[in-house]
Amino acid sequence: MGKTGVFLDRDGTLNIEKEYLSDPSGLELYPDAAKAVKELNSMKLPVLVLTNQSGIGRGMFTLKVLTAIHDKLKKILKIEAGAVIDALYYCPHLPSDNCNCRKPKLGMIEKAVADTGVNPKISYFIGDKAADIMLGKNAGGKTILVLTGYGRTEKDKLEKKPDFIADNLFAAVTWIKKDLNSNDKS
Ligand SMILES: [Mg+2]
Ligand SMILES: [Zn+2]
Repeated sequence: MGKTGVFLDRDGTLNIEKEYLSDPSGLELYPDAAKAVKELNSMKLPVLVLTNQSGIGRGMFTLKVLTAIHDKLKKILKIEAGAVIDALYYCPHLPSDNCNCRKPKLGMIEKAVADTGVNPKISYFIGDKAADIMLGKNAGGKTILVLTGYGRTEKDKLEKKPDFIADNLFAAVTWIKKDLNSNDKS
């Protein structure tokens, strides 16, 4: 059966979208993003970040820089709210590479399932792009579009409706809490 987890997008969802963020000093979280992750930690839901980083494939930044950005992300989460990410996966490829990990393909999820025992079919997917929603639908889970980042424009590009549209990550987590409670009662 596996566990319920929360798959989170990075840019435009956790941290402010800056178009190919390529320097840790430019990393800034949205207000209450750290608090939202902490809330998921308290709910004992594994938090799995999945991010497409084609900037690597494009030669815009190195893997070393990406690692530094992720180290800083983890540090800010900890400092701001004592929040922890359980695992983080990235796709470094170009769309034209046709890899199996670039969202909305399922490669990163397959890895996360093998690593953590999360079952995507009873999990939640949060992101600001149509690809994040498609990913969640492809994986069979529940999807939430956040209106931060590209959310407002991507909303019109959705082929299938998400289960919920949230103003931001914290609102998305609040909805998950309610949704899990209503499942318990039914
Ligand atoms: Mg995004
Ligand atoms: Zn890839």
